[in-house]
Amino acid sequence: MDNNLLLDLAKKYDSPLYVYDTDKIKHQYKRITKAFSKVKNVKINYATKALSNVNVLKVFNQLGSGLDTVSIQEVKLGLLAGFEPKDIIYTPNGVSLKEIEDVAKLGVQINIDNLSILELFGQKHPNIPVCIRINPHVMAGGNSKISVGHIDSKFGISIHQVPHIKRVVENTGMHINGIHMHTGSDILDVDTFLMATEILFGVAKQFDEIQFIDFGSGFKVPYKEGDISTNIEDLGKHLSKRFNEFCKEYGKDLTLMFEPGKFLVSEAGYFLATVNVIKQTTSTVFAGIDSGLNHLIRPMFYNSYHRIENLSNPKGRERFYSIVGYICETDTFGTNRRINEIREEDILCFYNAGAYCFSMASNYNSRYRPAEVMIHDGKDYLIRKRETFEDIMRNQEIMI
Ligand SMILES: *Cc1c(COP(=O)(O)O)cnc(C)c1O
Repeated sequence: MDNNLLLDLAKKYDSPLYVYDTDKIKHQYKRITKAFSKVKNVKINYATKALSNVNVLKVFNQLGSGLDTVSIQEVKLGLLAGFEPKDIIYTPNGVSLKEIEDVAKLGVQINIDNLSILELFGQKHPNIPVCIRINPHVMAGGNSKISVGHIDSKFGISIHQVPHIKRVVENTGMHINGIHMHTGSDILDVDTFLMATEILFGVAKQFDEIQFIDFGSGFKVPYKEGDISTNIEDLGKHLSKRFNEFCKEYGKDLTLMFEPGKFLVSEAGYFLATVNVIKQTTSTVFAGIDSGLNHLIRPMFYNSYHRIENLSNPKGRERFYSIVGYICETDTFGTNRRINEIREEDILCFYNAGAYCFSMASNYNSRYRPAEVMIHDGKDYLIRKRETFEDIMRNQEIMI
């Protein structure tokens, strides 16, 4: 992304501002579909929660992607963006039976991750086929050995409970059409991923109406130099071969599914903020920006690293800074960062701001959430207006 274009956008739309480049989204989508091109039926379901602006969803719809959703509201956004219900999978955790039934009524694929709900749903709606979310208890241990972990995770039905699932299926007459796993960030490398897929194959074999196997996500993208990132091409090569073999064993061409969020949108996003103040203390030089954990919480919430550059002074002498927000909390974006000299009113750019950035923004300190701009086919579109004081007051009534 051209720095001058970002600076122009900050001038045109003001800051703080999120900018998304749909070329990068397309590039990542093509990469993953190409990596699995040897499998006959592949479906990528973009994980809506990473970045849920309806225009971004429309881009995925145009690419031929499906959607992975975790709430009925995300399902409704998907339908609004033009997705067919059959191209949406709903993978909630800890929601009510009522919400699951409401989503099922919309014709969306249900994915159940809990035995008690499976039993209730099967008793009431034995004719609606469901997918089951399995916790394979696989994670990468130290020195890349495989260890059994997350026995107490709240997600998924344990592989040790598969006999129980089978009893529920027999007793209710319900139909299991898919097997799913999503173990988040536990599975970093290709070998561990393949290990978990073998466990899913083992489960799939025990059900005779399977149409798809959904391997979830957890794919890594680099946030800084030297970061581990998923080698999707390598995974594609090995898993495609194994998946095709499994389809032969199973006796049917199954659909291979993934549901990446971060992989598809992280690197497509840029967050622009203006420096309000430079504050030199006895130990540190702080650059305080017109933003905070209300707009980009990942550094404080997950301790995650976002590369920060000064777009306004690219030739300035490099110095060390702590970049902090304006919220009355410790909202540090980065400490001890070497950045071209920062002056008040300079524009800083945060990279990898596509996934879990705007979608986790809030109104804390009664601040407005930022505007969002999408660069699509060479044009910039304001896809979300900056909030105003009316947004802060919406749904509040002065009662006393
Ligand atoms: C969050 C989530 C994803 C996406 O995870 P990424 O790490 O962003 O790729 C996929 N599937 C489910 C069920 C999720 O909850």
